[in-house]
Amino acid sequence: MYNSKSTIATEFISDSEIRATMEYARENRGNRALVEGVLEKARDFKGLTHREAALLLECDDPEIIERIYSLANEIKHHFYGNRIVMFAPLYLSNYCVNGCVYCPYHAKNRSIRRKRLTQDEIRAEVMALQDMGHKRLALEAGEHPTMNPIEYILESIKTIYSIKHRNGAIRRVNVNIAATTVENYRRLRDAGIGTYILFQETYNKENYEALHPTGPKSDYAYHTEAMDRAMQGGIDDVGIGVLFGLETYRYDFIGLLMHAEHLEATYGVGPHTISVPRLCKADDVDTADFENAVPDDIFYRIVAIIRIAVPYTGMIISTRESAASRERLLELGISQISGGSRTSVGGYVTEETPDDSSAQFDIADHRSLDEVVGWLLDLDHIPSFCTACYREGRTGDRFMTLLKNGQISNCCLPNALITLKEYLRDYASPETRVKGEAMIKRLLGDVPNERVRAKAAEYIDRIELGERDFRF
Ligand code: SAM
Repeated sequence: MYNSKSTIATEFISDSEIRATMEYARENRGNRALVEGVLEKARDFKGLTHREAALLLECDDPEIIERIYSLANEIKHHFYGNRIVMFAPLYLSNYCVNGCVYCPYHAKNRSIRRKRLTQDEIRAEVMALQDMGHKRLALEAGEHPTMNPIEYILESIKTIYSIKHRNGAIRRVNVNIAATTVENYRRLRDAGIGTYILFQETYNKENYEALHPTGPKSDYAYHTEAMDRAMQGGIDDVGIGVLFGLETYRYDFIGLLMHAEHLEATYGVGPHTISVPRLCKADDVDTADFENAVPDDIFYRIVAIIRIAVPYTGMIISTRESAASRERLLELGISQISGGSRTSVGGYVTEETPDDSSAQFDIADHRSLDEVVGWLLDLDHIPSFCTACYREGRTGDRFMTLLKNGQISNCCLPNALITLKEYLRDYASPETRVKGEAMIKRLLGDVPNERVRAKAAEYIDRIELGERDFRF
């Protein structure tokens, strides 16, 4: 039985409710009055239910799709302005005991090079990331009770936060590791992580079990209820996602929104972020073996409708997507992107050859961070290296309150400009620097509060003189 407030996986992600929603959407897709009503409701910027969102996803009238795109863009600007938060993944270890058929880390893969970073190697990777200009990382690891136990992850987080190389610092470490216990989530929280990220892969239980035939990850309930345990462990910023291409997109789109509704209904705060990865080619993974690949046009609709359905949630896109696809997605609601990424273990320091690789999947955007920053500036997005909310304790519902009250222009905008200034001063190429300085000059005047504006201008001058790490 469907119950968004239940903490039992098959009740808050109810297969029968997903199927009934798909049926409802199919039956009503031609009901113009109903569709208009949903679009009208969405204009309140307060979100949509999974049923309403599923109805929009079924519409293929070009005029309706255009309205969806333009509304998604409007909502994105209303809550997030034109800021794009930058991050990079850091792969710690690809040892894994699971049998996920789409992931080359799976235990039976003998062709991938296995590697786990030592603390010294982590230091070298982090210094390389700091030298690029990164301030925010997403830690990635396979699941292995002896090679990558929680103690290894905790020690690595401590190492990462301790490194102060030149003017560099990693100020927020998000963590994407396998589902774990409440006690371990508490330890991650105490280690000062930002967001705990875990992709559901697919919400379809039967398919999930087929895709995860062996290992601890094969337990659908344990995996699906992970965010509940994370919340119980005191982590209030959680990031959800599905790996599009494993299941039909309709099923997982609805499941994803139901998961967000569950977190909001049960804990009073929805997911901090939603990621929308699409399946990529990898070491022993051929995408042709998966029949649910999502074409670009449908993918863009999915992103735009998620933006409309959960307006306050950050949306992340990685370098799994090409530059062209990312450019389009930035207009449809994405608020965080990675840049200069490597998916191999140790890849920021060591170049690997394609036949001797530890990489998780082939990336589609190979540009350096500086190229990505320059490209964002050309597109009139503000590349932001801000980590202020988390460091000021504005997490969970406190972050959402700030966002909902529209206080971002007095807080996030100056923080974005200050951290962009740091980037330009310490890491940018001369061309990027010129473009970025022009943007800062142009946008500082948009900070509404006079006192904040003056303070931000003062901070920017002090950064030019060598000081660092200001924030509102
Ligand atoms: N091991 C952790 C777990 O089990 O959740 C997470 C770390 S894994 C490095 C991060 C994510 O990469 C997975 O959750 C999965 O969605 C994604 N991934 C795995 N194989 C992929 C592929 N072939 N293409 C794109 N993404 C993939």
